[in-house]
Amino acid sequence: MQFSQFNVNALMEITSRPEVVFVRGEGSWLEDQAGKRYLDFIQGWAVNTLGHCAPEMRQAIIEQSGKLMNPSPAFYNEPSIGLAERLTKSSVFDRVFFANSGAEANEGAIKLARKWGKVNKNGAYKIITLDHGFHGRTLATMSASGKPGWDTMFAPQVPGFPKADLNDLESVKRLIDKETVAIMLEPVQGEAGVYPATQEFMQGLRTLADENQLLLIVDEVQTGMGRTGTLFAYQQYGVTPDIMTLAKGIGGGVPLAALLARQEVCVFTHGDQGGTYNGNPLMTAVGIAVFDKLVSPGFMESVNARAKQLSAGLLALSAKWGFQGERGMGLLRALQMDADIGPAIVNAARELTPQGLLLNAPRASSLRFMPALTVSEAEIKQMLELLDGVIAQLRK
Ligand SMILES: *Cc1c(COP(=O)(O)O)cnc(C)c1O
Repeated sequence: MQFSQFNVNALMEITSRPEVVFVRGEGSWLEDQAGKRYLDFIQGWAVNTLGHCAPEMRQAIIEQSGKLMNPSPAFYNEPSIGLAERLTKSSVFDRVFFANSGAEANEGAIKLARKWGKVNKNGAYKIITLDHGFHGRTLATMSASGKPGWDTMFAPQVPGFPKADLNDLESVKRLIDKETVAIMLEPVQGEAGVYPATQEFMQGLRTLADENQLLLIVDEVQTGMGRTGTLFAYQQYGVTPDIMTLAKGIGGGVPLAALLARQEVCVFTHGDQGGTYNGNPLMTAVGIAVFDKLVSPGFMESVNARAKQLSAGLLALSAKWGFQGERGMGLLRALQMDADIGPAIVNAARELTPQGLLLNAPRASSLRFMPALTVSEAEIKQMLELLDGVIAQLRK
C-alpha cells in the first residue's frame, strides 16, 4: 500500500513524522505499509522490553481479556496485587500505586512528596530537580523537567522546582532551604542524551537528603525494568531511594506505570490519589508477563552480554570515524559524534534499502540506542554494520 492512501491529516499535528505507516512488528523488527522491514533500535522509546509483539505478552492479553478487564480501581483485582508483590519483593519499596504513563507516575511522586512535607516538615514543598532532566509532559512534570525552553513554553510554570546540575553536589546543596522537601532525578538522563549520574553524586545526594530531612526520588521511567543491566538502576549505586517511578519498560509496550514508596513515605489518605484506569488488570497482567521474563534464569546475563557487545562496537565505530566515544548503562547507550550529523544519520539509516534501521538522535551530535532487551548478538552486529555504512556514505 502507498503512503498517500492514508489520510494522516485527520491526526493532530504534533511532530514531524516520516512518510511511513507501521503495520506489523516482531522482536527487533518492524514492517511498514509497503512491506519494507526495519531493524528497530528505538523500540517505542526504550519501551518494548521484550521486543515487538512478544509471545508472553500476547498470551497474557488473551488470557486476561477472557477473564476480567476492568472492575474499577475502587475494587481489588488479582493481576495488580500480583505485580505489586513482585515489584516490592524485588526492590527496597513497600507499596505500589499503578498509573498509565510516566508523567502520571511522576505527578504522583510529586504529590506524595508534597503531602509528606505537609505532614512531616511544616509544609515544605520544593523539589530540587536537574537541569536537562526529563520527567514528562504534564504541567507539573514539565516544570520539574530542565529541558531548554520548557520554562516559558506554557507559562506560568508550576512553582517549586529549583534546578541544580547533574553530578555537581554543591549545586544541589546551595538550593536547599527550609521549604525543600525532596530531590528528584533520573539515574541516567535519557532524553538529555544518556548522561549517567556518578556513584559519588548519587551517594552524596542520599547523604544530603538524610542530613536535611529530604526525600530522594528516582525517576526510573526510562532506566527501570532491566534497561541498565540490573532490574532497577538505583541498585548499581548502593543507595536506598525513598520513592521510585516506573513506566516505559514495565508494560513492555502497553500503557502501564508505577509509583513505589517505602512504608514511612506512604502518607496519602483516602481521596488524595486515584485515576480511572489505575491498576487495570489487563495492563498489570501484561506487566506480570514482562516482569517474570526479566527475572527468568539467564535473562539479565544476556542483557549484560549484549550491552558489552554494543558498547565495544560503538567504541570501535567511534575510533574508526574519529568520534568522541560512547556512554551509558546496560542497553541504554549513546554514541558521541564530532559534528551535528545525528539527524542526517537517522534519516539515511531509515531510508536504507532493502532493510531500514531505526535510530534516535537525542541531540544533533549524538545517537541513542535503546534496543529490545531481547535483541540478539546478530542483530547488534547487523546494526553496527548498517550504521558504519551510513556514516561512510555521509563522509564521502
Ligand atoms: C519518558 C519519560 C517520562 C515520561 O513518560 P510518559 O509515559 O511519556 O509520560 C518521564 N521520565 C523519564 C525519565 C522518561 O524517560
